[in-house]
Amino acid sequence: MIIDLRSDTVTKPSKGMLDAMMSAEVGDDVFREDPTMNALEERIATMFGKEKALFFPSGSMANQVAIKLHTQPGDQVICDKYAHIYNYEVGGVAFHSGATCKLLDGHRGMFTARQVEEAISPSAYYYSQSRLVEVENTTNKGGGACWDFSEIEKIKTVCKTHDLGFHLDGARLWNAMVAKNETPLQYGAAFDSISVCLSKGLGCPVGSVLLGDEILMEKSLSLRKLFGGNMRQVGYLAAAGLYALDHQVERLAEDHKKAKEIGAVLAQLSFIKKVEPIETNIIIFELNDDVDEAHFLNQLLEKNIHIIGMGSGKLRMVTHLDYTDQMHDKLLNELGSI
Ligand SMILES: *Cc1c(COP(=O)(O)O)cnc(C)c1O
Repeated sequence: MIIDLRSDTVTKPSKGMLDAMMSAEVGDDVFREDPTMNALEERIATMFGKEKALFFPSGSMANQVAIKLHTQPGDQVICDKYAHIYNYEVGGVAFHSGATCKLLDGHRGMFTARQVEEAISPSAYYYSQSRLVEVENTTNKGGGACWDFSEIEKIKTVCKTHDLGFHLDGARLWNAMVAKNETPLQYGAAFDSISVCLSKGLGCPVGSVLLGDEILMEKSLSLRKLFGGNMRQVGYLAAAGLYALDHQVERLAEDHKKAKEIGAVLAQLSFIKKVEPIETNIIIFELNDDVDEAHFLNQLLEKNIHIIGMGSGKLRMVTHLDYTDQMHDKLLNELGSI
C-alpha cells in the first residue's frame, strides 16, 4: 500500500467516473458541438451565476488566459508573493501577457484591501499601470488557507473604484467553499473571472474551467485556441467533471477532517518544530533545525509514504479522494513510531 500525499492531483478516476466517461455522448468541441462539454460548461456557469464557462486542459492555462484578457503588455498584476500565477506558472505572466507582477507581502498567501490600495500605481505616464488584482483561494503555498469573504468584498470595491479587473485562481475553491460554508454564487458575484480546477479535490483526470461574462469569455475562446488549448471530442473529460460535481464535492469535508487529524499527530512529535494552521486539505510543517530533511523523507519512503518538500525547510502533505481510511490509520500509526 503506497500512501501518496504529495498532492491532491495524484487521484485516479473511480469506477463510477470511468463508467460515466465511457458512456459520454461526444462531438467536435472546436465546432462547439460536444453536448457533454456544453452541458458541463452551462452547469458550472449557472452554479456561479456567470454568463459563460470554458473548459481548459489545465489550471495554469485558464489563469494565463485570464491574465491576458485583463492586461496589455507593460501592465501590472497585483498579487500575493505566494501566488501560483507568479511562482509556479513558469513566468507566464511575463511570457504570455508581457505584464509584471506587483507582489504583496501577505499572510499565508492572503492580503488586505488596504494593501491593494497602497500598491496601485499612481497615474503618471511613466508608471506601469495596475490593471488586475489576483486572489487565490484556498492558497496553495499558504497551506490551504481560506480567505475571509468580507475582505474579498472590500478588495472588489477597491477594484471597482480604480477600474481594475479582479481574477480568482480557484484551483481549490471547492475546498474553501466546503470549509467555510460558502456558495459559488457569492464568488461569481465578487469576481470578473474565476478559474476552478476539476482535477484536484474533485478527482477528475484532467481539466479546469474559466468563468466570466459573455464578452470576456468570447475573447477567452480565441485565446484558448491561440494558446493551443482547443480540443475535439472532449465530452469524455466533461463527463468526468459532471460526475465529480454530483458525487465528489461534499466529501471534501472528509479530506479536511483527515488533514486536521494528521496535523494533531504531527504537532505531538518531538522533532517537529511547527505545524501551520490547517483549514482544508493541505498540511505544511517544519522539522527541528537539527533534523535532516532528506533522512526524514527517506524514513517515510521506506514506509511507502510519499510527501513533498517545498523548500526553506517546509514539508507538505495533501489529503485527497484516494487517501483511504485504511491509509489514514496506517499513516497516523507510522508517524507515531518514527
Ligand atoms: C494546481 C494549481 C493551479 C493549476 O495547476 P495546473 O497543474 O496547471 O492545472 C493553479 N493555481 C493553484 C493555486 C494551484 O494549486
